[in-house]
Amino acid sequence: KVLLEVRDLHATVGGAEILKGVNLTVRSGEIHAIMGLNGSGKSTFAKVLAGHPSYEVTQGTVLFDGQDLSVLAPEERAQAGLFLAFQYPVEIPGVANDQFLRLAYNTVQGHRGKEELDPLEFDDFVREKMKLLKMNPDFLDRSVNEGFSGGEKKRNEILQMALLEPRLALLDETDSGLDIDALRIVANGVNQLSSKDNAMILVTHYQRLLDYIVPDYVHVMEAGRIIRTSGKELALALETHGYDWIHANDQATG
Ligand code: ADP
Ligand code: MG
Ligand code: MG
Repeated sequence: KVLLEVRDLHATVGGAEILKGVNLTVRSGEIHAIMGLNGSGKSTFAKVLAGHPSYEVTQGTVLFDGQDLSVLAPEERAQAGLFLAFQYPVEIPGVANDQFLRLAYNTVQGHRGKEELDPLEFDDFVREKMKLLKMNPDFLDRSVNEGFSGGEKKRNEILQMALLEPRLALLDETDSGLDIDALRIVANGVNQLSSKDNAMILVTHYQRLLDYIVPDYVHVMEAGRIIRTSGKELALALETHGYDWIHANDQATG
């Protein structure tokens, strides 16, 4: 079943065209990796999917489960089952993490027909999920992301994903800033939460996240387009030969 269908997507930010014709099809049960050099447009693509107000779609279409995404506000996208974790999660001083997570849960899952949970019910529920993900419950009492380490922010993202049970999750990783521990958290979360009914897109600059997650497809983005799609072996080839190899390879194969 096709979950996401991106066709000839062009988008601008601050008047500059960054996405220049992205095509991508994602089906239930699949894990996709989008790789590419810094500045190639990966995060822009993630923000456009999320409906970030600074980004304007100027051409092309995005269908999520057959529905035109452009008519949905960001929160409606989340309610439809789209989850986007960002490179730089927001800090919300003064708001306890458990309050924040409960609001997110009730807004998204409540909309999808689940019963809203009061603080006590939510506490039981979230602690169960945290046990599964081997997270320390102390985390619930702290302010949202305030002073969290990179690894803790990642943990919190994965916890949000576990609570919201998205149909399509897009994780944009600055794995440059992540230690191996944080990479493992992301990888374990993705592996545990991935099922035949959902799909995951991992945006990653480096190959090492893919030591822990086996994607069905690897895409390379360059200058606002996906210029190559292959299986997981593409990530290994990139690790060995670097991104320039793609162009050398294009010439060699004519
Ligand atoms: P990646 O995530 O692949 O590193 P980005 O999507 O962050 O790439 O950036 C792609 C390009 O878009 C870069 O050239 C970047 O400078 C440019 N860009 C990103 N945000 C803005 C902005 N707000 N205004 C103008 N250009 C931007
Ligand atoms: Mg970048
Ligand atoms: Mg980026």
